[in-house]
Amino acid sequence: MRTFAKSDKLHGVCYDVRGPVLDEANEMKKQGIEILQLNIGNPAPFGFTAPQWILDAVREALDNPMSQGYSESCGILPAREAIKEYHEEKGLVNVNLDHIYIGNGVSEMISIAMQGLLNNGDEILIPSPDYPLWTAAAKLAGGNPVHYLCDEQSGWYPDIADMEKKITDKTKGIVIINPNNPTGALYPKELLEQIVELARRYELIIFADEIYDRLVFDGKKHISIASLAPDLFVVTFNGLSKSDRIAGFRSGWMVLSGDLSKGKGYIEGINMLSSMRLCANVLAQHVVVPALKKRPDVDPLLLPGGRLYEQRKCICEAIDRIDGISVVRPEGAFYCFPKVDAKRFGIVDDEAFILDFLRKEHVLLVCGRGFNWPEPDHFRIVYLPETTVLTESMEKMNQFLEKYYR
Ligand code: PLP
Repeated sequence: MRTFAKSDKLHGVCYDVRGPVLDEANEMKKQGIEILQLNIGNPAPFGFTAPQWILDAVREALDNPMSQGYSESCGILPAREAIKEYHEEKGLVNVNLDHIYIGNGVSEMISIAMQGLLNNGDEILIPSPDYPLWTAAAKLAGGNPVHYLCDEQSGWYPDIADMEKKITDKTKGIVIINPNNPTGALYPKELLEQIVELARRYELIIFADEIYDRLVFDGKKHISIASLAPDLFVVTFNGLSKSDRIAGFRSGWMVLSGDLSKGKGYIEGINMLSSMRLCANVLAQHVVVPALKKRPDVDPLLLPGGRLYEQRKCICEAIDRIDGISVVRPEGAFYCFPKVDAKRFGIVDDEAFILDFLRKEHVLLVCGRGFNWPEPDHFRIVYLPETTVLTESMEKMNQFLEKYYR
């Protein structure tokens, strides 16, 4: 009998969106067990709704007959103009409307960026821990993701020496995720300058995933790395899933900036791949203009009294009360990546640890391995749920660890 296996191209691609922990959680839910979910960066289920002006824009777009047809493959012009203006305000130079590509979320753009660039065996530097789609997309494109270390001791900033050590003559680019998922780190200018310097010296493209750039706390300012590298080829990614809390609309984009002269062939490839998927969801593209133009300077959610601010405070304080766990205070996004004392609790497999916790306390987290972290000593918390849920989950973690030794 003929059977069908997954494609060989997927061999070695590790993107464990399901996996045993989630399977178990789904099974428990089917049995009527209530699970506290701190595992997914999707704002809507936690009561976050899109701002009113976005909803109004969607209603207006519905009445526009042009939203019913395909758009230009790189996206509708008014949206690309708003994206250009947004990124120019952040200091990007040489941004051409033809080099802005709107996609069904940043996810689609990451895949196109990797597919268009990497030949078999080409290397790309990706952070560890990472948002795992980057590693998976690079592998699926035939490339070889090489992980550079982000150092918890230095606020989860990339270790520049490690990054440089891993550059070879096959390296094509450096990926940075800033603000970072899963650590919540926000990179300062001096650090970004050091990364730019490496890219300049070794002639690498910089891929900057900045989808959380409007979710930054404590009055800090996000700096686009492209603004520091006008002489390099930089690809910047951004979108509406997180800051505008409309992840389901699937609206994201990438912008090429700087000196594109050495990347003409690459741009041809991107154009080809962009046309092959015809275009991104057109209705969602109509939301880009109001989202970028009508937004307040600072999202009230990030200020004292705002939900994200208070939830970050709550989760950090709750973790501080637990013996054997520590956390670097996040400065952006809505994640943190606590460290658990693996030796003390006998943890050699972080997935097994997270599974044990789920079974015993009914709280769902994601283990560090899911973010290409090499040691079994971290997990990610999404602090989108209300403070009552966060507090309860960490109390459960505390009581769980009091008796835990694997
Ligand atoms: N990049 C990062 C760092 C993310 O955390 C995510 C989603 O969690 C994405 C990209 C994908 O975003 P989108 O919803 O725009 O596809």
